[in-house]
Amino acid sequence: MAVPNEDTLELGGQSVGEGRLRGEQPAAKPRARRFLSILFRCCHVYGRLYRNAEQTAYTGRCPRCGAGVQARIGPEGTSRRVFDAL
Ligand SMILES: [Zn+2]
Repeated sequence: MAVPNEDTLELGGQSVGEGRLRGEQPAAKPRARRFLSILFRCCHVYGRLYRNAEQTAYTGRCPRCGAGVQARIGPEGTSRRVFDAL
């Protein structure tokens, strides 16, 4: 039997279709989307940055206060996986 992904919710053996949680993370992943985990110093909480359409930077917002954050992607790619905001 297949092992469910950790992100997959199982409801009585039925796949999750309705009852989406906030709609922020669709049940079907398009592909592993590149993101960075960062620490938002403003509120001292961790959040994620996702690549922008131009693939030139990671952008995101503090989940608490909504402050915008951006991390540019270097020419050799981003090797760091954790960034501090601000
Ligand atoms: Zn904040």
